[in-house]
Amino acid sequence: MTLTNDTKSREIFTRKSLYWTTLKRLDNLSILKHATQRKVSRKMVEELVFDNTEERRRRRQNGVGWVEVIVGSMFSGKSEELIRRLNRARIARQKVQVFKPKIDKRYSVEEIASHSGMTHISKPVMTAEELLAQIDEDTEVVGIDEGQFFDKGIIEAANDLANSGKRVIVAGLDQDYMGKPFEPMPQLLSIAEFITKTHAICVKCGATANYSQRTFESDELVEVGASGKYEARCRKCFIPHSDKPTNHD
Ligand SMILES: [Zn+2]
Repeated sequence: MTLTNDTKSREIFTRKSLYWTTLKRLDNLSILKHATQRKVSRKMVEELVFDNTEERRRRRQNGVGWVEVIVGSMFSGKSEELIRRLNRARIARQKVQVFKPKIDKRYSVEEIASHSGMTHISKPVMTAEELLAQIDEDTEVVGIDEGQFFDKGIIEAANDLANSGKRVIVAGLDQDYMGKPFEPMPQLLSIAEFITKTHAICVKCGATANYSQRTFESDELVEVGASGKYEARCRKCFIPHSDKPTNHD
């Protein structure tokens, strides 16, 4: 079997497993019940599965690009959501390029990673200018993780990319350890067509968490490497600056 065929069969396999997983998920939804009752063909169900919001947006945009921003506290699944969207774009055979700021040395340097272990290949860059310089003309989707660590040039860069017809997806922290807006994310939120806010669960009380609680003393804005140094907290349990780690014993 040639390499191309091998890749193809792997992709078909992925599509098939995604199809069955989604069917299972849709099991309780009336839309699938209707589909079953009307004996809708497998092809139509497959279209239902893959004709997701992103695809519909793409068609509706008529060749014009746009900016999507995913924001939330630490442990809220931002990177996971970014990786999910990038993987879907790749399954749809779109050309994807992914970047992250060089400041983030967590896990592998050439990857973006979620706390749950999902990864996606990415290119580390120092500045927004460096990012722009590396974009290929035929790229359709540009993913950017840890957007809060970029310089303000990222706002113009995102606009330029969207203006040239590309779909730009930026994930990042919207608030710092003081609970203050984390530049340049607020400005990216302003220029974005689509915004997703992800939430974590407060480790103290189980409520919806919107804050990243620092659990050590430091006045540095950027402390990379979240493991053991931060926890998700709700509005009531969050203490700006720092607090001692929650003890569950
Ligand atoms: Zn709480």
